[in-house]
Amino acid sequence: MKSLDDALWALIEKAPPAPTTEQIAIGQALGRVLAEPVIAGFDVPSFDNSQMDGYAVRRADLQASVSADAFGPLPVSARIAAGDPGQPLAAGSVARIFTGAPIPDGADAVIMQEQAALQPDGQVVFSVLPAAGDNIRPRAGDLATGQQVLAPGIRLSAADLGLIASVGHAQVMVYKPLRVAVFSSGNELRQPGQALGSGQIYDSNRPMVMGLVAGLGCQVSDLGCLPDKFQVTRDALAAAAQDHDIILTCGGVSVGEEDHIKAAVMDQGELDLWKVAMKPGKPFAYGRIGQASFMGMPGNPVSAWVTFVMLVRPFILKASGVADPIPESVWLEAGFDWPKPDARQEFLRAWIDDEGRVAIHPKQNSQLLSSVSGSRGLVEIPAKTPIQKGDHVRYLGFPGLLG
Ligand code: AMP
Ligand code: MG
Repeated sequence: MKSLDDALWALIEKAPPAPTTEQIAIGQALGRVLAEPVIAGFDVPSFDNSQMDGYAVRRADLQASVSADAFGPLPVSARIAAGDPGQPLAAGSVARIFTGAPIPDGADAVIMQEQAALQPDGQVVFSVLPAAGDNIRPRAGDLATGQQVLAPGIRLSAADLGLIASVGHAQVMVYKPLRVAVFSSGNELRQPGQALGSGQIYDSNRPMVMGLVAGLGCQVSDLGCLPDKFQVTRDALAAAAQDHDIILTCGGVSVGEEDHIKAAVMDQGELDLWKVAMKPGKPFAYGRIGQASFMGMPGNPVSAWVTFVMLVRPFILKASGVADPIPESVWLEAGFDWPKPDARQEFLRAWIDDEGRVAIHPKQNSQLLSSVSGSRGLVEIPAKTPIQKGDHVRYLGFPGLLG
């Protein structure tokens, strides 16, 4: 049996090279994988500007005009709003200035308007002597010319799109999305909306897996539910391999007589069937049919979910061009006891409680999808390791496992 880490690294190694690239408008690029570095072609901001509504001052003029307990009065020689062109500050005066407006040449600080009193004669008295640079946002304070703004291999967030816009790029080079085919399998499955006969259950894995795949920015094809029949399964997988990069199935990969997916993949390509030492999730299959990669998840819904986030997701991200596909985790105190650990590494559905400790869902069976839906993350229980309240445990929040 492979450890989860070994299985994960084997998959990352086997992931195909990143797809070809395309140039798209930044408005379309949320969640896409950046294929080229983004470089600042100029300083951002490109001019010193005011951080406050107030007055741009020359400190030497304030020092030279001290009254009883204040600085000034000084006349207002200009009014500079955001978007106005810069102009030099006249000697012995101040300029009214607004947030984002260019600092006039000769000014060396901005005093916020709350620390200024406008007198009836139009002159201004200030209650403070600012330090040089106060309330001035310097040129290149965010990015300097030539600086790398974003590295390739990241999935673009909304903030990244804003950053790309701030350096004036309307378009961005990204990898093309992977085409991923999703099948469920099992004679017992009916589709929501259909009536259930005795011994039948609804196909919950397919919408779930399709949602997980869509969350990774892939183009998903819903290829339906395979019956437990060898020929039908073989033909459907062979057809899917023609026009998809990755084929995902759930169910039918354990050792039962009705598990035909393994045999169908072996018939059409190559299969590595792994038992991965994780709970839930033991049976997991990886292989190839023609140019397409194949991954078979177990049928139990929680097992499918956990093997997807721990194994399939990193593989898909790597194949999508993502540089670091390994999910983030944090170490937190356990707020629970787990006295009887499994011989396999376990992943319990969990969340962080009000005290910042990890709490676990009361129902942990691998067929109970409510335990995933009702949780916020997974907590790892290392193999054969009992956990007591207060021990440190590795927690993987759903935001780092999805998308
Ligand atoms: P299998 O791996 O095909 O033996 O399936 C293991 C368990 O998961 C069985 O109880 C199946 O009924 C169940 N199962 C398989 N596929 C699905 C699915 N798409 N939706 C819900 N349950 C499933
Ligand atoms: Mg089955």
